[in-house]
Amino acid sequence: MGVFDLVDIGINLTHRSFDRDRDAVIARGVAAGVTTLVITGTSAPDSQRAAGLARETRSFSTAGVHPHHANDCDEHTIAALRILAAEPHVVAIGECGLDFNRDFSLRDVQERWFEAQLELAAELALPLFLHERDASDRMLALLAKHRASLVGGVVHCFTGTRAIVERYLALDLHIGITGWICDERRGASLVDAAGAIPLDRLMIETDGPFLLPRAHLPVDPKPLDGRRNEPAFLPAVVAGIARATRRDELEIAVESTRTARRFFGIG
Ligand SMILES: [Zn+2]
Repeated sequence: MGVFDLVDIGINLTHRSFDRDRDAVIARGVAAGVTTLVITGTSAPDSQRAAGLARETRSFSTAGVHPHHANDCDEHTIAALRILAAEPHVVAIGECGLDFNRDFSLRDVQERWFEAQLELAAELALPLFLHERDASDRMLALLAKHRASLVGGVVHCFTGTRAIVERYLALDLHIGITGWICDERRGASLVDAAGAIPLDRLMIETDGPFLLPRAHLPVDPKPLDGRRNEPAFLPAVVAGIARATRRDELEIAVESTRTARRFFGIG
């Protein structure tokens, strides 16, 4: 067992790159101290797979539609998410939000289905697992509009600046940090922003199989051209945050787990 007891709040465990060795991936995570997974759902059918996987592996999952898939939403989507969210191991609505970086769905379509999911989270009193890229102004405006009726939300895979993180924190939202923080060049503004996040608002995630940390890793990354990220690499994120904030790794580990358990209501 690792020395840590970590919660990976964002792992895309339904991804096909895990099809061949999902059980081994989970076991390697546990051996590295990653004892709890929150499996990300990115569309109605994917959220159903995530919920099934969470049930089988005694993990947790989210139910939502990623902005990339907003074009695929229809009048049945919210009802399907509502049914999934009734399962006890489905602990958040998301991932949902706005992505004006890739614009895979039209912006007004993204906004419409994001607001529908904000309303669902309010109705069910569930926290939100939020995705935002190059869309912070609109995201903040929509969150501010609905904030009074929402129980909470985590802006996952935050990669922005200190000024933006302060605006999310002012709405009493949580922030999720990935291995992006280990990249000294791309992560420079994030290193600065991380210092502004109180430990009771900070959670950690791999976002695997994506975002392999640029760090020394305990085992060789395997598929996805040798770049697949997995829960066992989450301690690299702890180390990156500790370096960025000049705090102790154990403190980051203990506090991020405490924050995640409280946020998702998982004991
Ligand atoms: Zn995302």
